[in-house]
Amino acid sequence: MIDEAARAAGIDDIYMDAVTYESGPSYFDILSGLRTINIGSDAFSKTAADQLIEASHEIAHAQVFNKMSKSMGFDATFQEAFLNPERNFGRPLYAREEQLVERLARWRVRRHSGGLSPQQEAASTKYIDNWKLVEWTLKNMEREE
Ligand SMILES: [Zn+2]
Repeated sequence: MIDEAARAAGIDDIYMDAVTYESGPSYFDILSGLRTINIGSDAFSKTAADQLIEASHEIAHAQVFNKMSKSMGFDATFQEAFLNPERNFGRPLYAREEQLVERLARWRVRRHSGGLSPQQEAASTKYIDNWKLVEWTLKNMEREE
């Protein structure tokens, strides 16, 4: 799945050191210094195309990390990406990255698979719109503080 997602992304160096298959959701994280993508068990009840989007989504997170570490270095990027409270779950920067990587994943899988079903388009759009709303709401709340 990861390999196909990497091909969909058109990348040779897939920006990760380890792939795990733990239960629960999928994620990108640095574990013991290794850039790790977990494909969670939640993914396996999904269709092949949805799995591909999910894996592509995590690869896009890995790619964002890689891009940052090229300019800031690994340690500073780890601090920024995982320890900066501004990037925590539910913060505007987090919401922003979710939209970015999901858009990228959707575009790549669409191109790779020659299109997505209306259901896949709708699910992906819903995900992006949800984070867009979160970002908008948080920004407005902060403005009022
Ligand atoms: Zn994500």
